[in-house]
Amino acid sequence: MKKELQDKLFKDFSKLYRQRKLPMTQTCMCWGIETGSGWFQLIYDLSKAIVKLDDTVEAVQVKEKFGGLRFYVSGGKEETWRKAEELIDEAEDKSLHVCEECGEPGRLRGVGWVVTLCDKCWDIRGIK
Ligand SMILES: [Zn+2]
Repeated sequence: MKKELQDKLFKDFSKLYRQRKLPMTQTCMCWGIETGSGWFQLIYDLSKAIVKLDDTVEAVQVKEKFGGLRFYVSGGKEETWRKAEELIDEAEDKSLHVCEECGEPGRLRGVGWVVTLCDKCWDIRGIK
C-alpha cells in the first residue's frame, strides 16, 4: 500500500494500529499494511467499525493471502470480539470483489497464484 494511505490509517486509528511501532520479534504489524492500495477504503471502513465497537482491539497483521484480505487482531473485550470477527469476515469477503490495485470492482483471477483485480489492472499485469 502507498505510504501516504498507510500513514492515514495509522494516524486516524493510532490505537488500533499501535503495534506498528513494536519490533518484528513481537508483531507482524511492523511490516505495515501488506496489501495493494485498492483496498485502502475497505480497510479504512473496517478499522473505523472496529474502533467504534471496541477501542481495545489491536491489529496484529494486515495482508493479502490467496487474493483476499487477511486482518488479524488481538485483545478486545469479551462481549464484543464475536462482533469484531463478523466485521472482519465481512471485509475479507468483500475484498474478493474489489481490485487490490485500484479499488474498482474486481474478481479473483489466476491459477495457483491468485489475485483480485479488475479487468484493466489484470491486463496491465499481463499474466495470462
Ligand atoms: Zn484495478
